[in-house]
Amino acid sequence: MSDLKEDPMIYVHKVTKSFRGSPVVSDVSFHVHKGEVVTLIGPSGAGKSTLLRCINHLEVPDSGYILVDNELIGYREHGDDFVEVTGGDSAKARARGGMVFQRFNLFQHLTVTENVALAPREVLGVPKSQAMARAHALLDRVGLAHRFDNYPSQLSGGEQQRVAIARALAMNPQVMLFDEATSALDPERVGEVLDVIRELADEGMTMVMVTHEMAFAHEVSDRVLFLADGGIIEEGTPEQVFGAPRHERTRAFLSRVSQPAS
Ligand code: ADP
Ligand code: MG
Repeated sequence: MSDLKEDPMIYVHKVTKSFRGSPVVSDVSFHVHKGEVVTLIGPSGAGKSTLLRCINHLEVPDSGYILVDNELIGYREHGDDFVEVTGGDSAKARARGGMVFQRFNLFQHLTVTENVALAPREVLGVPKSQAMARAHALLDRVGLAHRFDNYPSQLSGGEQQRVAIARALAMNPQVMLFDEATSALDPERVGEVLDVIRELADEGMTMVMVTHEMAFAHEVSDRVLFLADGGIIEEGTPEQVFGAPRHERTRAFLSRVSQPAS
């Protein structure tokens, strides 16, 4: 549950991002409190991925700023000024957010355990034995204790995506960001990945996700934001947004996607 007395865990303030002169995210502001699950829905091209990528410093906003746990993403204080972080510093700044994409992007020549242990070793300098032990614990947590020594190609898509979630968790992120994490999976593999995401939500992980799984969004989200043309058209509880959308654009979008039974 969100605690309004606490500072938000994610503070997005008037963020604008353009590509080749056209704004993709326009003056977007929202907060996510510790332990809250916020889902971004909206049509393709609405700017959902760009917004998540800004939170994770994979994109730098043209204007506005983002704080995660009160730290400015992408910048560090230097005297009275802020300078953009680069290189290894950037990887560490990004580690505040663990991101899971539609494509798993695992290293094919590394075992599942090595994939999960890699960033803690390379970026955080965790000793190998410790990183491998932690990787085993995380893989166990996502139900893959029997897969430690397998290579990604030996796993199903659902299993590979669970490895990708373990890999993100290995960096001890304060927030998890999911961008259509189940969109590339065979339908019968979607549930096992949603189960892992649901468990993280139940454990109190702060999360922002983009998903087309509307029934799942309805079930796990504290709040839903509907985006179109780079702006937040409306936001509310899942009951409000799915059950009684206020804006015509939201209604039109929801009528085109499969809706949770209510
Ligand atoms: P969504 O995730 O809601 O589908 P995106 O954030 O991926 O939307 O994209 C919004 C718009 O920005 C799209 O028109 C897309 O083509 C464009 N876009 C996204 N990333 C880039 C990029 N790196 N370079 C140029 N255009 C981009
Ligand atoms: Mg997207």
